[in-house]
Amino acid sequence: MFRTDALLQVCVRPTVNKPAKLLQPPVVGAQPVVYVYAQIGGLGVTAGVHRLWSHRAYKARRPLRYLLAVFFSVAGQNTILNWVRDHRVHHKFTETDADPHNAKRGFFFAHCGWLLQRKHPDVYSQGAKVDLSDVESDPVVQWHTRNFRLLKFIFCLVVPTLIPVYCWGETWTIAVVTCVTRLVILINLTWLVNSAAHLYGTHPYDKRINPTENALVSALSNGEGWHNYHHIFPWDYKASEHKYLNFTTVFLDQFVRIGWAYDLKSASPDLVARVALRHGDGSHPKHGVEEHFQEVPYDEYLRILKDDDELTGVRDLHNAEDPTRQRVA
Ligand SMILES: [Zn+2]
Ligand SMILES: [Zn+2]
Repeated sequence: MFRTDALLQVCVRPTVNKPAKLLQPPVVGAQPVVYVYAQIGGLGVTAGVHRLWSHRAYKARRPLRYLLAVFFSVAGQNTILNWVRDHRVHHKFTETDADPHNAKRGFFFAHCGWLLQRKHPDVYSQGAKVDLSDVESDPVVQWHTRNFRLLKFIFCLVVPTLIPVYCWGETWTIAVVTCVTRLVILINLTWLVNSAAHLYGTHPYDKRINPTENALVSALSNGEGWHNYHHIFPWDYKASEHKYLNFTTVFLDQFVRIGWAYDLKSASPDLVARVALRHGDGSHPKHGVEEHFQEVPYDEYLRILKDDDELTGVRDLHNAEDPTRQRVA
């Protein structure tokens, strides 16, 4: 029988009345531990499979790639290769039949309905054309793919269940309920980027596309809700013009300090201003950013568009009338 009191005990009040086993008394309540573990899974998605492997927005040394691969296992999602393929198709064919979670089919479909039914034939046909050679050749991805089920079982289910039981003497029921609850919440926050951030919000960078700037989704997804910007500049490691409500970027900046993350791409203020002035809906408060690791000037921007077309198909200015598009082609 489901014990709502058990869930409340973990989510609402500390487990101070429980006999601690490894930690006596509990060093911290259950809530921070559950929150941190959920954050770890979230960062595996945002910093790892999204910004690193899908978009190559920065380069990561091998220890960081292993760390992100394990973090991604905590999230309990698909293999890295399948995630990257779906995401690159999403960016290249945003809101068409070839988009796996086409938001034009409604909130529910974009949120989770797309995982509950057979994919549109265009998703298969276009997905098969996506170049994944850069990801497939990564030894860390190969290791993760080989051990996918084992890593997912251990880090998504076993470890988060054992921690409450052996660290502060939680009951097995509460530990399992907490693990499942964390998983359900985390996966829904990931899905919000595909649903809410494609339907609700502003378009300061390009009003011709549906992805929006959505602060609430950003707050809940560690910075992935600045989605209008991200669909215009998918190669920007911040996935946003700024670092506000963007914990993933703050996280990555710490690895820049120790040299594990490098070659980070970021749009220059001039480029952002030009794009926003040309195509934005007028809601952009200013044109500029505070800090850049590797500013991308306009000419470089055009080269990146061309490279992405050739290598991965990741490119979002799907606007044939745009003069930059014609110069690239
Ligand atoms: Zn999107
Ligand atoms: Zn993306």
